[in-house]
Amino acid sequence: MKFAPTDAVMNFTEGTRVVTSSELRANRITPYKRTDFYREQMTNSGYYDQLKYIVEPSFEEFESPGSLDTSGEHDNTVVPGFQHKYAQTGLLLVTDRCASYCRYCFRKRIVGEDSEEIATDFAHITRYIDGHPEMTNVLLSGGDPFVLSTAKLNEILDHLLPIPHLESIRIGTKMVAYEPKRFEDPTLLALFQRIHEAGKAAVIVTHFDHIGEISSDAERNIRSLRARGVQFLNQSVLLARVNDDPEILAKTFAKCHQMGVRPYYLFQGRPVKGASHFQVSLRHGLEIAHGINQRLSGIEKTFKYIMSHYTGKIEILDLGADGRVYMRYHQNKAPEKIGKIFSRPHREGACWLDDLPEG
Ligand code: SF4
Repeated sequence: MKFAPTDAVMNFTEGTRVVTSSELRANRITPYKRTDFYREQMTNSGYYDQLKYIVEPSFEEFESPGSLDTSGEHDNTVVPGFQHKYAQTGLLLVTDRCASYCRYCFRKRIVGEDSEEIATDFAHITRYIDGHPEMTNVLLSGGDPFVLSTAKLNEILDHLLPIPHLESIRIGTKMVAYEPKRFEDPTLLALFQRIHEAGKAAVIVTHFDHIGEISSDAERNIRSLRARGVQFLNQSVLLARVNDDPEILAKTFAKCHQMGVRPYYLFQGRPVKGASHFQVSLRHGLEIAHGINQRLSGIEKTFKYIMSHYTGKIEILDLGADGRVYMRYHQNKAPEKIGKIFSRPHREGACWLDDLPEG
């Protein structure tokens, strides 16, 4: 068989396929990237058959419908690379690269691309934050901030640390799963020390979706950073075929708790183009959330089952005997909506708020 110069044979979980670069671009297929460390961890953990779906491409990515901006990130961007959706929190996109690319990523439109949505004008962003004293914390995200050099991260902190009303600097990362040795860099320890000395909390939000991702290297580095005062939270995404099992997620959250990492959000998978095949129905998701809670002690039940919707962060509470899905706004742009319980009629197979009829 003869291939055109732009054709390439790509490995997918279902087998190999000849793809052209334009076909990949048209379908917004994220490049394939996976660290050697994670490849070994997938095998050594004994959970290869689940973890492979996190990083290995699938034919389903060509077919999965959805949008590339499910939470309204574009509409909440106030300065290029900086979003302000909820009063107290600023979201800074510092890179479009990650150590490995998760096939379910909700920022497929950015990761692995040379994106214009990445922050460049930090002086402008700082002026914006200065003018918003209600903002108490900034979350560095992307992409994975820890792919940046420590020197670059320090440059970003040069802008943020002098702002008196910022109480914490939060950094979202999956690097602890993909390349935990990154956290052995002594200059990173000095960076966290800077945050403390500026009188602010340093918070790392890890992203463990599965107990099999928590390596001994990850645990050692987390314990070492915690001993230096870094706080840890974990967020997970509920993913079909990866962790749609209360036993697995309960084990993941119990292990996080044991390491001093507080399970925080269990995200409902988003209807992202090329990734919606990872979605689990709300009915099944609620069964899983209840099953996790049945397996955890009181102090380990710290997660919320959350749909990060265009309108706000919605906690998914229950499917009532009246056939309605009960929910509550955990975060909303309108403070009066936060905490209010609301419901919608359930529709079988619904995975997202927009799948539920109003009424
Ligand atoms: S590490 Fe985070 S930003 Fe990067 S691909 Fe995975 S989910 Fe997306």
